[in-house]
Amino acid sequence: MDPCAGKFDGFQDCCLAMRYAILSDIHSNLEALKAVLAACRKANIDTFLCLGDIVGYGANPNECIELVQEYKMVCVVGNHDWAVSGKWDLGYFVEAARDAIVWTREHLVFNHFAYLDTLPPLFCGEDCILVHGNLADPLNFDYIEKREDAAKTFYRMDRQVCFIGHTHIPKIFVEEERDILRLSAPQFSLVPGKKYLVNAGSVGQPRDGNPQAAFCIFDTDARAVEICRVPYDIRAAQEKIREAGLPESLAERLSVGK
Ligand code: ZN
Repeated sequence: MDPCAGKFDGFQDCCLAMRYAILSDIHSNLEALKAVLAACRKANIDTFLCLGDIVGYGANPNECIELVQEYKMVCVVGNHDWAVSGKWDLGYFVEAARDAIVWTREHLVFNHFAYLDTLPPLFCGEDCILVHGNLADPLNFDYIEKREDAAKTFYRMDRQVCFIGHTHIPKIFVEEERDILRLSAPQFSLVPGKKYLVNAGSVGQPRDGNPQAAFCIFDTDARAVEICRVPYDIRAAQEKIREAGLPESLAERLSVGK
């Protein structure tokens, strides 16, 4: 089964580059995004990929969208992007997330609604697939947390690597000989015959207990993937959330990475 058949062929040319940075769940956190982009400049990145949820939670949705556009990131849609566009029911979100989506709608400039509206659910490149939540039903945004969840996406993968986000927790699943295993090392090489499902973690609101911004580097020449962490000015991002009148819990959680 090829979920990519006939879809988004226009993106195919984007995947000639050798070093990708994969950013997920930026969530309007400009300080975290700038720190990740600075790290990417040092890492000689050719092409930027984005796994969605550019907006929601933080205080700089417009600035984050503008940077995603400036870096010409190939981007798929996340559930918060979808909700801000009015395409996803607010009833799916907890109160703080809902408040942030309403706030984002009130503060987003008109052109950026149009941009979020154009984001596709899925990107199929030569080297990898991108989807926010899962391949089984990209616009249902179910989480992949366990091996059983991962199996449904592996079944639909016709590339060796699929990058996901959504849980805000970096995680690597490997499918080999019909078994699915977890890799704990943040850096690994792709082994022929195996398939990899890589959660890139979150740039703007990590939830794995490490408050540093997370992103991924995929080197197609070296066939190597690395989940990277970078410190950023958490206090500045928190102050902006408070000044914007967004829920206090959204500021507090950034300190603890939860
Ligand atoms: Zn998210």
